[in-house]
Amino acid sequence: MIPSVLPTYNRAPLSFVKGEGSWLIEADGRRFLDLGAGIAVNALGHAHPALVKALTDQAQNLWHVSNLYQIPQQQALADRLVEATFADTVFFTNSGTEACELAVKMARKYWYDKGQPDRTDIIAFSGSFHGRSSAGIAAAGSEKMTKGFGPLLPGFKHLEWRDFDALEAAIDDNTAAVLLEPVQGEGGIRPLPDDELKAIRALCDATGCLLILDEVQCGMGRSGRLFAHEWAGITPDIMMVAKGIGGGFPLGAVLASEEAASGMTAGTHGSTYGGNPLGCAVGCAVMDEIDTPEFLDAVNRKSGMLRQKLEGLVAAHPEVFEEVRGSGLMLGLRCKAPNMDVVAAGYDNLVITVPAGDNVIRLLPPLTLSEEEIAEALTRLEAAATQVETA
Ligand SMILES: *Cc1c(COP(=O)(O)O)cnc(C)c1O
Repeated sequence: MIPSVLPTYNRAPLSFVKGEGSWLIEADGRRFLDLGAGIAVNALGHAHPALVKALTDQAQNLWHVSNLYQIPQQQALADRLVEATFADTVFFTNSGTEACELAVKMARKYWYDKGQPDRTDIIAFSGSFHGRSSAGIAAAGSEKMTKGFGPLLPGFKHLEWRDFDALEAAIDDNTAAVLLEPVQGEGGIRPLPDDELKAIRALCDATGCLLILDEVQCGMGRSGRLFAHEWAGITPDIMMVAKGIGGGFPLGAVLASEEAASGMTAGTHGSTYGGNPLGCAVGCAVMDEIDTPEFLDAVNRKSGMLRQKLEGLVAAHPEVFEEVRGSGLMLGLRCKAPNMDVVAAGYDNLVITVPAGDNVIRLLPPLTLSEEEIAEALTRLEAAATQVETA
């Protein structure tokens, strides 16, 4: 008999009743160190006082109002994002995949309005993930995500990740945009080196194609900069954001330059809940916390500390791990043992990690993780690795 919850997930036998900072707590009181943060969502950990206050204060006043009216919280968050980034304008969504939908529509509408209606192709890469909507799965293109779901949204081309020559050869008169994650998340924490992102930007400039960055996972301070592309010193034309921006409240956004967004006039797009007062009040509180030099410096310091300890862990357990990779507090351990065995051994030792492609386990802790918690993380990962070795 089919479970009452549609069984599209292989769920671990864990069930949490409370979250506190970097910790998740089960009903029996067992405390897990959370190095997954809801897959990079709880960027400020669980029940951060500033976010609890922003949400409950807003909840006392107004939960929902249609986008037919002015929404001051939405205006405030858009202003913050425009001020902090390349963007001139922002549309709010409830999720990352909805941001993908709009990013694709925006790029196509741009060329349509420029009198090049055939310029609709989006070039994307192997190992990418852009969510589970029709545009998201067509963009990622993997058999795992698309098989059985009938005709896919047309107009996507797929190239090998980091194959610049193939990209140069593939861009033609029908290419609307290049779409990529500066650090692939689901694909196994695979960063694009800065010089390669710079070269792709230059290629887009030379050919006129738009550059769409998916920073749903690597954005919002996770890389140690507000957005990961800042490390390369470039800017995209369109950027997808979600996950960390809501700190656990469902919130996403598409950020764009004035030029790239020029086709999106009144009536061309919409969302009932996108940019609602609750989400945007929380988003403003998240920005207040994350978008400061002190906070981002701390992310980089903690990244260095965690990374160094993880190098030691890998060296001590060569039968379990192969390498550490990633950026900021978006780190991956490529495993030699099956990654799910390592994740499961983590559960036994009360530490949560997240599996990814390429036999990787992801560490995406709250950005507020303390130095003591980093030490505790290593103790627990050590125990998990030893358990895998002796199994
Ligand atoms: C999670 C994710 C998405 C999809 O976000 P949802 O909120 O699940 O729709 C898109 N792109 C990347 C890079 C992601 O990590």
